[in-house]
Amino acid sequence: MPDRSLSESLFARAKRHIPGGVNSPVRAFRNVDGDPFFINHAKGCRIRDVDGNEMIDYVGTWGPAILGHAPAPVVEAVREAALEGLSFGTPNPLEVEMADLICEWVPSVEKVRMVNSGTEATMSALRLARGFTSRDRVIKFEGCYHGHVDSMLVAAGSGALTHGKPDSAGVPKAFADTTICLPFNDQEAVEKVFTEEGEKIAAIILEPIPANAGLIFPQQGFLQFLRDITKKYGALLIFDEVMTGFRVAKGGVQEHVGITPDLTALGKVIGGGLPVGAFGGRADIMDQLAPDGPVYQAGTLSGNPLAMAAGLAQLRELERTDAWNKLEQLGTVFEAGVHETLAKTGKNYTFNRIGSMFCLFFTDKEIKNLDDAKTADFEAFKKYFSSCLENGVYFAPSQFETGFISTAHSEADIAKTAEVATKALAGL
Ligand SMILES: *Cc1c(COP(=O)(O)O)cnc(C)c1O
Repeated sequence: MPDRSLSESLFARAKRHIPGGVNSPVRAFRNVDGDPFFINHAKGCRIRDVDGNEMIDYVGTWGPAILGHAPAPVVEAVREAALEGLSFGTPNPLEVEMADLICEWVPSVEKVRMVNSGTEATMSALRLARGFTSRDRVIKFEGCYHGHVDSMLVAAGSGALTHGKPDSAGVPKAFADTTICLPFNDQEAVEKVFTEEGEKIAAIILEPIPANAGLIFPQQGFLQFLRDITKKYGALLIFDEVMTGFRVAKGGVQEHVGITPDLTALGKVIGGGLPVGAFGGRADIMDQLAPDGPVYQAGTLSGNPLAMAAGLAQLRELERTDAWNKLEQLGTVFEAGVHETLAKTGKNYTFNRIGSMFCLFFTDKEIKNLDDAKTADFEAFKKYFSSCLENGVYFAPSQFETGFISTAHSEADIAKTAEVATKALAGL
């Protein structure tokens, strides 16, 4: 067992003045019955805790670190930008560059506005969809995460046509009533809602490849079906690509599957590790935003020059190095390692991967939706997680998270990971 005494004492101290000792709940390791470690150094694919333990990292700060931690071009861009000033509160040239780049890479985005987090991006896109359509109701899918937006913190009601119920204290029932929460990949359920109240639906919002309940793939035709039915009823289709944007492909899932949403939410990779989000889409919809239109949206630090510099440097480095190709190659090597490990240890677990995103579900079931993901053996996952961590490999501390490979992972790192994982699985 690695010594984590400095982390332990920091956590005890953190709990005195930070609720639960953390600034975002998943960091508390509750899903694995553990205590978090504190990191003060991260470089490439490795993170180092305050006690000096080094780990190969597959969390990548929950998605942004696609080039690994602290990539030199990004760090340098932030340093240079900082010397010119930290925030201006006026338009700045970097945000124009960022807007041009996003619109070029993600063609469904004709106009884009920068925000400071993924939550802000989805929240603003939803308000805009409601303002544009003059309708209130939104369809979301169970297991899709859209940040901690009030109307998105809802669980399915009983039966497809009942509206959602609050999934967090503090969310008014009236807000949850505006959200209809359906099982992912269930065309029939969506059709039923549109037949009954299609003229009240402002939008469908989804992660086109859900990556917050493990990693789930849309079934053949599902995304096209959503595109068609929203068009038919005058509702908007919102792709939440906060996780997948610039990661599964240069232009996100929408490029990969060739489907054009009306609005897109972006985050994570786009900020190069700094707090950035963005939402954009059809120009006629985006023009409804203030100051041109009646839908209010604003941000003191939106388009911040440091954040724009970091994001631009990261995106350009991805393009310069053809990173998506490299990530697919590394992903293929990783996947082969997983299958070998499973075969060696006699486990029949389901492994899902696209490019650099992956999830090992501790079940042999095919995963089509959240209910399938819930059939996983969580006790086995916890043991596996702890064993890997003890041996220097950090996977996300929950069965419901996606893992990330970065361009900084080498084949040697992946081979070492396979060794550790084999030992962990054999010990179950
Ligand atoms: C992480 C995430 C969000 C929320 O982004 P924050 O920056 O944490 O607010 C929204 N949607 C998806 C798909 C995400 O993965």
